[in-house]
Amino acid sequence: MAKVEREAAHLQGPAHAFDAILGLGTNLGDRVHNIEEAIRRLTADGSIRVVARSKLYRSAPWGVTDQDWFVNACVAVQTGLSPHALLKQCQTVENDMGRVRTRRWGPRIIDVDILTFRDLEIADSDLTVPHPLIAERAFVLVPLKDVAPELKLNGRTIDAMLEKLDSREVQPI
Ligand code: AMP
Repeated sequence: MAKVEREAAHLQGPAHAFDAILGLGTNLGDRVHNIEEAIRRLTADGSIRVVARSKLYRSAPWGVTDQDWFVNACVAVQTGLSPHALLKQCQTVENDMGRVRTRRWGPRIIDVDILTFRDLEIADSDLTVPHPLIAERAFVLVPLKDVAPELKLNGRTIDAMLEKLDSREVQPI
């Protein structure tokens, strides 16, 4: 697989107290349970360890707006997995929890995205890191700020990215 990975000068954060930040979202069934269950499954075999977790947030649907509200959260993790192995583990949890892929941005029992992985920039067909839509999504940025308040993407702080968005639609629960 062709893989482009390079040190990303634009991504600055604390000196790797964590390896990756995962974003979780759900808008079907018992949403709080779904987040807890996904974290339990992600960490079950010991290859992923949570070092910080955000509050849980209720957020309005984004992209496709005629669907139920979401619960979103972020976890900062330590892992010895490669980025692709981490993605595989995230997708296994999504699939095992019964994720059915319907329309883009449609209802989902659980979504687990890799938001950042160390200071890597990855542009593969199946994995883009940092996740390309972070700066456009208050429901990602608000929980992200809980776990990595000093994080900058493309030289921009989380607050600077949030200034352009309506974060009133993202409320702690
Ligand atoms: P989604 O519908 O949001 O779960 O998107 C899933 C697709 O996005 C999968 O095919 C992944 O290979 C791809 N993808 C690309 N970059 C990422 C990332 N940083 N985290 C999770 N999935 C990603």
